[in-house]
This record gives sequence, C-alpha cells and structure tokens, in this order.
Amino acid sequence: MQNVYELVVGLEVHAQLLTQTKLFCGDGASFGAPPNTQVSPVTLGHPGALPRLNRTAVDFAIKMGLACGCEIERTNYFARKHYFYPDLPKGYQISQHTTPICKGGKVTVRTAEGETTIRLNRIHLEEDAGKSLHDVDPNNTAVDYNRAGVPLIEIVTEPDIRSSEEASAYLTELRKTLRYLGICDGNMEEGSMRCDANVSVRLKGEKALGTKVEIKNLNSIRNVRRAIEYEAKRLIELAEQGIPVQQQTRSFDAAEGTSFAMRDKEEANDYRYFADPDLPPFHVSDEQLEKIRAGIPALPAELTLKYTRELQLPEYDARTVCDDKETVDYFEKLIVETPYYKAAANWLLGPVRSVLNENGQTLDDFPVSPASMAALIALVEEGKLNFSIAGSRILPQLIRDPAQDPLDLAVSLNLLQSSDVDEVMAWVEEALAKMPDKVVEYRKGKKGLIGLFVGEVKKLSKGKADPRLTNRLLLEKLDNG
Ligand code: ADP
Ligand code: MG
Repeated sequence: MQNVYELVVGLEVHAQLLTQTKLFCGDGASFGAPPNTQVSPVTLGHPGALPRLNRTAVDFAIKMGLACGCEIERTNYFARKHYFYPDLPKGYQISQHTTPICKGGKVTVRTAEGETTIRLNRIHLEEDAGKSLHDVDPNNTAVDYNRAGVPLIEIVTEPDIRSSEEASAYLTELRKTLRYLGICDGNMEEGSMRCDANVSVRLKGEKALGTKVEIKNLNSIRNVRRAIEYEAKRLIELAEQGIPVQQQTRSFDAAEGTSFAMRDKEEANDYRYFADPDLPPFHVSDEQLEKIRAGIPALPAELTLKYTRELQLPEYDARTVCDDKETVDYFEKLIVETPYYKAAANWLLGPVRSVLNENGQTLDDFPVSPASMAALIALVEEGKLNFSIAGSRILPQLIRDPAQDPLDLAVSLNLLQSSDVDEVMAWVEEALAKMPDKVVEYRKGKKGLIGLFVGEVKKLSKGKADPRLTNRLLLEKLDNG
C-alpha cells in the first residue's frame, strides 16, 4: 500500500552566522563561553536598552542569498515576533516578517536517483533565543543567555523534497555552501545549524498538499532522515485508517527513534507581529550588493566543472576534492605547483587524508607546503620514487620536518628507485631464477604470471626498482630467454 502515497517535505534551517558580535549589540557571539558572560542589557532585554544593527550579519545573509540565486530585498525592516518563553527575556524575538532579505533561489542536490532542484522560499535574518538547561540542577531549569541575540539566517525551502535521501543531500549541500562562504561553521552538534522538518503525505498524483506536521530542532543529518522516515510511516498509517492528521509541532526522540506531539500549531497572528519601532528600516545599495557579489568564492558546482574540463580529473575525484573547502584551498595551491593534477588529487584524497585522519587533524593543520608536495609528486610521477614508499616513508618525515627537501630525504633514506639497467637486470634475473617452474608456465602462455614476477622484483629491490624498467626487462628476459 505504501507506494500509493507520496512523501512531501519542506525544511527550515537555522544557521548561526560567524560574526564576532550579536545581531543587535556588541556582545560576543562565540560558542562555548561560560554561561551568562556575553550578556549586556540589550541581550537581557532591560527596559530602555536599544538595539543597533550588525551590518556584517546583513552582508552574510546576502552572500548566502546570492550563492543560491535568490532575489535580494532592497528595503528591509525588522519585526517583533511575540511569545513568552524563559529563554526570551524581551518577550519577543526580532525577526523579519514580510520582507525576508532573500526571496526565491534554489539548491541543486544529487542522490542515487539523479539531480534534483530544491526551490527556496526565502532566507531571513533573525536573532537566536537563549538556552534553557534542564540538566545542571535536578530541581530547576537554568537559563544561559549567551546565545540570546546571536545572528541567524533561516533558510526555508518550498515543499519540494520527496524522500529522506533528498533531505539529507539538501542539508549536506547547504552546509557545504555555508562553509565555503565562511558564514557559518555548519556544526550541527554544537547547534550552529539546526533543522525543522515539515512533513506530510498525499496520494500519488494528488495536487493539493496534505496536512503537515513540523518536527522541531533536529540536530544531525542522520536524525533528520530518521525523523522523516518515522513520520512518513506514522502519517501513512493514519491515512490508511482514515484518521485526519492534526497540524502539529512535534519533537523527535533520538534515543527511541519516535516523535511525540509538543503543541498544536500556532498561527502567524498569534505572534502579534509588528515592525520593531527601535530599529529603522535598512536599505541594501547597489554598491553593497556588488561588493558582496565580488567577494563570493568559486562554489563546488563551478569548481567541479573546472576540474573535470580543464584538469581532466575524473568526475568522482573532482567532486571529492570539492567536498570540503580546506581540500579545495590546498588543491588550488597545489595545481599551481604541479602539472600532475590527477596525482595531486590522489595524494590529497589518499595518503595525506589518512595521515591527517590518524592525527585527528584537517588540511588547515597540514604543515607541508604545496611546493614541497609538488616536488614529492614529481619524484613519483617521474619514476624516481615508488608511490607507496613515498606515502609511508617520506610523507611522515616531511610532516615532522616540513623544511626538508623531498629529494634529499629520499636520497638520505636510500629510497630512490633505480633506473640503472644493470642493477634492475640483476634483480630481474634473481627473481626469475627463484621461480623456474613459473617461468616455464609463463612461456607456455600463462601471461598473467607477469604480476608475480613484478612483485618478486619489487620485494627483492625493496621497492627501489623502477616499475617501468622492471616490466621492460622482465618481458625481454621472458620472451627471449
Ligand atoms: P508555517 O506558516 O506553518 O511556518 P510555511 O508555509 O511558512 O508554514 O512553511 C514552512 C515550511 O513547511 C516550508 O519549508 C514549506 O515548504 C513547508 N510546508 C508547507 N506546507 C507543507 C506541507 N503540506 N507538507 C510539507 N511541507 C510543507
Ligand atoms: Mg515554521
């Protein structure tokens, strides 16, 4: 029965902007400060305290909008959204109501099914609330106001998402874009990116949307998937039994993998929105827009094209290099130093990534300069050094002492490959002499044995025999011997 239903999902993502200070005052906006140390009278909502707009937050929101192809609203105002909650000292949240700073736009995602476009409805600016802590005191709820007033953008999709895979691909892409732009760290565990999922089901072919439920505050991409899958099943079961869906706000219990109702949905007019009289409307000028546009770095889609078309990288490599900004930044510097683009990608995604993972580091911590990496890559590509030896012996040395020259290191560790015909021939003869039976089989036509001989020469020479020369000499010996 399940395949007669269609899943419909719209996501609302809150992304915390990486500004130094809060949206409407000079309090620090960093994560993890001791509780209630970043709280001026503005943050605490003292009577008479006046807000003042942080223009960097506005620029960041516009940056995201331009990256997603949104239309930018030129004349904006902030509205008060009223509700009572202990972590909201003013009794209202300052948000944008009828003039979201970005409208429309889209995000293109890839899943196993192919490429899909998720349309955006809007991106608006708002301040975050404080944080209620239920686990520091057994009898009381404590409140930390550090987060109150921190700038957020809320990115809202149209109800275009049709599966949990699409939802997770969308979130991955969105997080990548935020990180590329340097406007949000995308860290879901620390709450700097949070997601509400709106979920409904309808019969396939039906045009009208079904009644939705909204699942609040999902804190990992995995939980977004789980929550959507659970909810889809629950809503289909209700539909099967002919029970109407209640429009609700729900919460996901990650330990149980289930969701439960928090409250029935409030309407916009419950919030008594009105323009904040303490904040004048603000305008976005042509100059400001152009300046921001000029500061947008190349994004993954564009870079993937560049790497496949100009550098002839395979699609998969190009995409993987673009998966994170640090790898791209290093790769961009590396390709200036080396003509071996494919090898450069292999090095970053292979040996370099494994060493960094082992040490719990990222490329930002990688001490070896692109020039030095290029020199190492050249040694391998030009047949002077074996790839696996270069990765296992030279790379760790270089990390310990980045000032060393890769060639000097290879020489001093006696690792350079030999392209000396006499020397390699001696290893070839020794290898063949060890396996006379195999040589006979080879000559009878079992050509696959060549790999065995190559391996033996590699072993005897401790990886130092130039593989191309080894091959040539082996064939010479075997075919003419
Ligand atoms: P609300 O007023 O309840 O916040 P909005 O119309 O602003 O609702 O939409 C909030 C989010 O819910 C958007 O991402 C939108 O795409 C999504 N959405 C709206 N209706 C549905 C629906 N019937 N099913 C799934 N998602 C929906
Ligand atoms: Mg909503």
